[in-house]
Amino acid sequence: MASPAARIPYQSCPLCEATAAVEVLVADCSGHPMYKPQLPPTLRWIQCKSCDHVFVDGYFAPDELAVLFSGTLEEQTPGHDIENQRYVWARVLETVGAQRSEMGGRWLDVGFGSGSLLSTAAEFGYEVVGLDLRRDNVRLMRELGFEAHAVELEAFRPERGFDVISMADVLEHMPFPKRALRQAWNVLHTDGHLFLSMPNADSFLWQKLTRDGENPYWGEIEHYHNFGRARLCALLEECGFRPVHYGVSLRYRACMEVIARKIERPAVS
Ligand SMILES: [Zn+2]
Repeated sequence: MASPAARIPYQSCPLCEATAAVEVLVADCSGHPMYKPQLPPTLRWIQCKSCDHVFVDGYFAPDELAVLFSGTLEEQTPGHDIENQRYVWARVLETVGAQRSEMGGRWLDVGFGSGSLLSTAAEFGYEVVGLDLRRDNVRLMRELGFEAHAVELEAFRPERGFDVISMADVLEHMPFPKRALRQAWNVLHTDGHLFLSMPNADSFLWQKLTRDGENPYWGEIEHYHNFGRARLCALLEECGFRPVHYGVSLRYRACMEVIARKIERPAVS
């Protein structure tokens, strides 16, 4: 059998571009449900010595991503568990809505997975568009009557902008999160809102799970980043967003949700 493909090593910190980093830990990901023998069986996590961001030492090339995406978990399939998920997303929509001055508008969900955020946002009166890299998911969502595209956010060129962009448990999957945040800024209307959720490595729960050897995220083969609230909020400011809300996500263990408002043009770099 051929040896597993290597990841493409980061040449510098994907958030601040500093080049010095130290190893945090090496985790086994061969038991992950998405793991395939063609992929490396471990994740080596490193921490930037400049901004303290923790990330995997490399990311997958398109061929390895195709192998990873050749399987789809049931929870990521459009239409899955739609009744229970409606309750989860309704709370998110109410929280986002509380930050906005009017109802409705255009909502873009990046990485729509099961599609239940899109269907619930439509119920709330939003005109919804979804992006997902899994082509089967896009086909299924279109069959359900939704506008959906199999394209990365960075390459998405919508004819009209959006009032809200959601990236629910998505940013930690992106090799270069700043590129996505800059494009989110580009396609958001003035004063538009960004909704993000992801595990919070700053939380006491995260740290306790790690101490107890039970933190599932170190072996999460689809993740490249372990964000904490502080570093995430600083990154948002760097990219032209003002964090306006913090909450605990009901979706996954130890997860946070942050809402940020578009404020000013991000610095070009
Ligand atoms: Zn850094």
